[in-house]
Amino acid sequence: MIIVLRSGTTPQDVEAVTERLKQLGFGVHISQGVERTIIGAIGDERTVNLEEKIGVLPCVEKVIPILAPYKLTSREFRPTETIVSVGSVEIGPGRCTVMAGPCAVESEKQVRETAIRVKEAGAHIFRGGAFKPRTSPYSFQGLGEEGLRLLVKVREETGMPIVTEALGIEELPLVAEYADMVQVGARNMQNFRLLEAVGKLRKPILLKRGMMSTVEELLMSAEYILSQGNYQVVLCERGIRTFEPSTRNTLDLSCIPLVKKQSHLPIVVDPSHGTGRADLVEPMSLAALASGADGLLIEVHPNPVEALSDGPQSLNPGQFAVLMRLLRDMAHLVGRVM
Ligand code: PEP
Ligand code: MN
Repeated sequence: MIIVLRSGTTPQDVEAVTERLKQLGFGVHISQGVERTIIGAIGDERTVNLEEKIGVLPCVEKVIPILAPYKLTSREFRPTETIVSVGSVEIGPGRCTVMAGPCAVESEKQVRETAIRVKEAGAHIFRGGAFKPRTSPYSFQGLGEEGLRLLVKVREETGMPIVTEALGIEELPLVAEYADMVQVGARNMQNFRLLEAVGKLRKPILLKRGMMSTVEELLMSAEYILSQGNYQVVLCERGIRTFEPSTRNTLDLSCIPLVKKQSHLPIVVDPSHGTGRADLVEPMSLAALASGADGLLIEVHPNPVEALSDGPQSLNPGQFAVLMRLLRDMAHLVGRVM
């Protein structure tokens, strides 16, 4: 951490800052310039909030962090990319893992038909919500445990592992009992108690970026999970809110290469929620893979016009099969296997 003092600071001010830093367990390196004094605080700045503790002193102009505030999630901590295993499927370097399925589990017929078709097209993991986070309390909320049972039937029939969302800490044990991978949705990205609870599981977690969250906040949320001992975390970019109304969200693909530099965790892209438009899913999926994503999450419904949620952004099985063929070509170009 670098501490820049205001102009006109006295030797007593420098002494006061130095003393405080030492009390907090930091080494001190003073650099006396002509106009300004700069103090380097030597120690682990992630465990003490120096911006708060030193930034309040009147002689301090600014406190500049050197290290990222996350530790276990960072590339420095683990220089090689993490591989996350979901059943027999791997997510990580050299692969393009596709998770596909409906927004919500609606009926046995709907999930069965979708699962058979997406598997045929080459999907690796089946997705579907049994507990749905809906903006309106009057909208379809999901089938609950019955939905989880239907997902397990799909796994038994197709062999695809299943990923599904836990909306709260109360239902987490139930969801974890059925699911191969537990999803923490965008709205829960900063539900810190839920993050700690999934951190105590020994199951892979799909952590979606909050729609109003920065990349640093996403990585800090992952840190909550890793700090509890669970390193099997896959990040997911699913679009953020901007002033642009033509798409449901603005898909932030630049965060993919950025996250890859800062973290060892795999990251996948969800162009379905990211755009809210079925016609944009194909181009954005290809762009996601080209930008370095480790996989995709795609909503597929046998008949999108009749979907109980997110129909406008869902592909039908035929469109999904076309997308998978194009993705295979792109995967080949970027040196990934599908
Ligand atoms: C979902 O994947 O079904 C979902 C609700 O996504 P998000 O949390 O990104 O809105
Ligand atoms: Mn959805």
